[in-house]
Amino acid sequence: MDWAEFSRWGTRLSNWARTYHETIRTRPVRAQVAPGSVHNALPETPPATGTQMEAIFADFERIVMPGITHWQHPRFFAYFPANATPPSMLAEYLATVIAPQCMLWQTSPAATEMETRMIDWLRQSVGLPKGFSGVIQDSASSATLAAVLTMREKALNWRGNQQGLAGQPPLRVYCSAEVHTSVDRAIWVAGIGQDNLVRIPTTGPTRAMDPAALDAAITADIAAGLTPAGIIACTGGTGTGACDDIAATCDVAEKHGLYLHVDAAWAGAAMICPEFRTLWHGVGRADSVVFNPHKWLGIQFDCSAHFVKTPDDLVRTLAIQPEFLRTHGKDGIVNYSEWSVPLGRRFRALKIWFVLRIYGLEGLQQMIRNHVTWSQELCEDIRALPGFEIVTEPVLSLFLFRYAPKGAKDPDTLNQTLVERINDDGRIYLTQTRVNGDLVVRFQVGQVAATREDVRLALEVIEEIAAGLG
Ligand code: PLP
Repeated sequence: MDWAEFSRWGTRLSNWARTYHETIRTRPVRAQVAPGSVHNALPETPPATGTQMEAIFADFERIVMPGITHWQHPRFFAYFPANATPPSMLAEYLATVIAPQCMLWQTSPAATEMETRMIDWLRQSVGLPKGFSGVIQDSASSATLAAVLTMREKALNWRGNQQGLAGQPPLRVYCSAEVHTSVDRAIWVAGIGQDNLVRIPTTGPTRAMDPAALDAAITADIAAGLTPAGIIACTGGTGTGACDDIAATCDVAEKHGLYLHVDAAWAGAAMICPEFRTLWHGVGRADSVVFNPHKWLGIQFDCSAHFVKTPDDLVRTLAIQPEFLRTHGKDGIVNYSEWSVPLGRRFRALKIWFVLRIYGLEGLQQMIRNHVTWSQELCEDIRALPGFEIVTEPVLSLFLFRYAPKGAKDPDTLNQTLVERINDDGRIYLTQTRVNGDLVVRFQVGQVAATREDVRLALEVIEEIAAGLG
């Protein structure tokens, strides 16, 4: 492909992108293909000779597009959002064109220095105090892994990387059952072991870790000769939006001298609105915090803001070079690959810069406030529907409900069928989860392009399809 052809296709794809987004409401939100259909449509062997772009693009529309679940659809109410706004797409395009490797300051000074500035813009945006610096990770999973590795190394007095875990005292990490499964995986990968991830019971409507139970579990472990390493708290857990009492958790962490990591992967974006910051009151006392602009800030995947109080500890844990005697950042040079597990790094800061400048904080705050308001309106409408009950009240824009008409013999199957029929219908997309063993329907609003009418249509669809279940 020569550059003239590249330029023609660039224009054509840009027009395609516009049409795609302007007509996206006409598409079913969830892909309606059968498993294997895309795989089977692709030849078994690679092409020996080149193909014209025209044919490739025709195949893209024929084979790929039917197999896409439209995450940018305004009526995507499943999981959590993964938003991509036009300025974010344009920034990604530029980053793709330049394709820099941003592992060291030297390999991309602009990306490195913009990353430092953007992390600080995000820190201010969500109201974290000045003592935090940070890094852009690919995902919250990576940030949590980095936090677990850091708490492991601190608890082992920096012996783990060098000596391995055999012969070291067993470490213990504490969290509730409401945290994301990325915590479990971080514990596995860090070699701490699932059996040493201690689940603390939750209490109250926010399903917060019980601080007294947390304190008691740590005290009992110490008495038993085990080594507590750290605590992982959540603000806006994935299933129900659970929020730990961060201030009370900090009290326990500080009492025992433990590292505290806060996972606010989804809810962290809402902290750009000062009125929601009560949800993570005390967060400034944590050792590290992660939130994903790639979820709810219109900055497309991947972009995870990982804030740390003591970057030297993170670098001492992850830097390949034994750099722990250096003061990072003080000489103006930061090598962000030393703050993360992968060496190679994308230029992620550019899309933050574009998005924050195009919308300003006020534009993004308005979007999030709308989502929260519309979700709460829908929650009230569903509460008023005969046969429906609200299982968890809205946390920001997430709530759970259940269809349980009188006399329903098997409510779990009924709700599973409701979700499947809704998603087969295609006008909206949502998912299920379990609360106290019951299968319930999960609903969140978070799409950049969503309108109040889109959310109201959800009510119509849910009511209509439930009625059809008999
Ligand atoms: N933490 C929470 C609370 C989440 O909801 C998710 C994903 O939805 C994650 C962590 C993992 O995020 P990522 O895909 O960025 O690793």
